Amino acid sequence: MKSIAVQVGSVTVGGSAPISIQTMWKRPLLKVDESLIAEVNRLQALGCDILRFAVPDMETADLLGELASRVSIPLVADIHFDYRLALRCLDYPIAKIRINPGNIGARWKVEEVVGKAKDRGVPIRIGVNHGSLPKKFQDLSDPAEALLAAAEEEIEILESLSFRTIIVSMKSSDTESTVEANRRFAKEYSYPLHIGITEAGPLIPGIVRSTLALSELLKEGIGSTIRISLSDSPETEILTAKELLTALGLRKGGIRIISCPRCGRSGFDVQGFLKVVGEKLQQDQRNLTIAVMGCVVNGPGESRHADLGITGSGDKVVIFKKGKIVQTVRPEEAVEAFLKEFRSL
Ligand code: SF4
Repeated sequence: MKSIAVQVGSVTVGGSAPISIQTMWKRPLLKVDESLIAEVNRLQALGCDILRFAVPDMETADLLGELASRVSIPLVADIHFDYRLALRCLDYPIAKIRINPGNIGARWKVEEVVGKAKDRGVPIRIGVNHGSLPKKFQDLSDPAEALLAAAEEEIEILESLSFRTIIVSMKSSDTESTVEANRRFAKEYSYPLHIGITEAGPLIPGIVRSTLALSELLKEGIGSTIRISLSDSPETEILTAKELLTALGLRKGGIRIISCPRCGRSGFDVQGFLKVVGEKLQQDQRNLTIAVMGCVVNGPGESRHADLGITGSGDKVVIFKKGKIVQTVRPEEAVEAFLKEFRSL
């Protein structure tokens, strides 16, 4: 289902653009320094396309504005209720505002925010969450309908002000109602959808539930940008989103890692090795397959088929490149030898 395209800084959301990946900064924004900029750039290098920050006060709005002028990744200001925070953020090169016009209050306040967003060419994301639905929608027996109705009401406010650079999200911690609300929305509207399961949970349940819901929607062509919300790090959210899009064939490029779970036959610490080299591989945008295997049962086969493979073999480690053995080294030399071959691919 093709939506209209909305520009979020340098990233296009919707239309025929690739599905973008988002995460959210998880700490209060207290100062902008080189270490913060390095952290933000690292998230971008890992595959984050759009980064969102909560803006609870004016100090944060100013800091976010400063940060936006010092990084290239589009930054989103997430604002609840206070229209003055939205106006302040719009003084800076913020790429998108997430605010629900229905929460702003008096009509003149909404007009000020929407007018300034329009002047600056900044889109607005309407974010409807089941946990914070307006009272009148809370009692609807169909939770998907409640999400949709709340989003529709917000859209009407923006459309009444001729504002159409809108992105919409309707999220619940319940997978079924999230899927259903987004499905119904996509049938009726052409605004791009930001999809995700909110408060999805800690690492394992969060990944399973997000994957379940998002893969259903993405396979139906619904969703222009995604966030995997986990009680875990932004890095994990980004890597999960990347894996999901890659597995669905919706994302090209980046390293595909094949690795064995290890068993009693293993002669090589697969997990330890991946911990050391993992981030380097995740930051590489080349379209390559890497195999990391524990022993000679399946190791040589998988390694030969990969662009670069490494497998334990007795007390040695064998490195395969494009199907041929290129090095046999001791386990303690494995990381250095592997990275040397990786760089030269
Ligand atoms: S490749 Fe070897 S170590 Fe890894 S799971 Fe298979 S048999 Fe076990």
